[in-house]
Amino acid sequence: MGAPANWDTGIAMSSLPLVFEAPRRGRPPRHLADLSLQQRTEAITELGEPPMRAKQLSQHYFGRLSVDGPGMTDIPAAARERLAGELLPPLLTSVRTVSCDDGATSKTLWRAHDGTLLESVVMRYPDRATVCVSSQAGCGMACPFCATGQGGLARNLSTAEIADQVRAAAAMVRDGGLGPPGRLSNVVFMGMGEPLANYRRTVDAVRRICDPVPRGFGISQRSVTVSTVGLVPAIRRLADEGLSVTLAVSLHAPDDELRDELVPVNTRWKVAEVLAAARGYADSTGRRVSVEYALIRDVNDQPWRADLLGSLLHRALGPLVHVNAIPLNPTPGSRWDASPKPVQEEFVRRVAAAGVPCTVRDTRGREIAAACGQLAASTDR
Ligand code: SAH
Repeated sequence: MGAPANWDTGIAMSSLPLVFEAPRRGRPPRHLADLSLQQRTEAITELGEPPMRAKQLSQHYFGRLSVDGPGMTDIPAAARERLAGELLPPLLTSVRTVSCDDGATSKTLWRAHDGTLLESVVMRYPDRATVCVSSQAGCGMACPFCATGQGGLARNLSTAEIADQVRAAAAMVRDGGLGPPGRLSNVVFMGMGEPLANYRRTVDAVRRICDPVPRGFGISQRSVTVSTVGLVPAIRRLADEGLSVTLAVSLHAPDDELRDELVPVNTRWKVAEVLAAARGYADSTGRRVSVEYALIRDVNDQPWRADLLGSLLHRALGPLVHVNAIPLNPTPGSRWDASPKPVQEEFVRRVAAAGVPCTVRDTRGREIAAACGQLAASTDR
């Protein structure tokens, strides 16, 4: 077995360049969620208010999920509006929210202070509620099957812009916006952007998401997933942060020849290097790594690739891996399609036969272009 010599994937080599450095654009206004509790206390003191207001304001934002100055009745009226104005400026304005899956999935298009557009998706399940957040507006990784990747990178999001997507989602779930009122339990960095290309702000956002109230939202680290195309140095750095978030690696091909095309960053860091870094992450955190694999008809779904994927992952990660096979969500105008059901099933069976747990992830939000890889902010959709 092996790839035919001239395997024609039907992919015109991606014409988009890889972009690691985001364009520098105007900074969002200073926000509470950009700062550690210590820094918030300093900022409040500089504003001439007693230090305890840092905790009060943080309690409102991270605990009550509120950005409403007048409602903060434990703070004297005169200080409320000033503090909210200084430390809770509106960062994201909802342009449009659409829902599907009988109201259990909801996508919001947000506008940032400078007009930048981004999207997040909230999904309610019987046992949990998950928000899929964006870490960048657009993406520089140029994956040819991904709508965001094809649109290029507008800019990095700030820590607070990431955190505020979580706050809005948590408030929506609490207030019954997606069915019975509940609690936001999971956060996945699988919206727009490559989180590890916006490394510092992503890691700071993870801390805001996971630190207990009033420092953060108090969501369990184990319920947070950071997904990456495989930026090897950043994966190694993340392993040293002392976090126990789940790492997801978007592999999509077990062989370098195909992965070079599907995930262009593979031309920098090869499959073997990515898996070695993933192994390092699993070893230092004790967390199983998720491998994401979008099944694309006649491109990466052959039985031999399933066998190769299974044996490769078993060797590199042993029991510390789980494969999420995702039927491709064709992006508008794409020539590719999802693999047929029987092909999916055979693929999963073969990976599992190699000793690697593998499940097909059902994709939510298809009708509202909110499914995996379809996030591409555009006001005319
Ligand atoms: N940049 C990060 C996170 C954002 S994408 C990453 O690539 O991991 C989240 C997941 O959706 C990735 O696994 C990505 O490869 C996948 N994806 C992108 N486009 C898709 C599509 N059209 N169909 C199915 N999955 C897709």
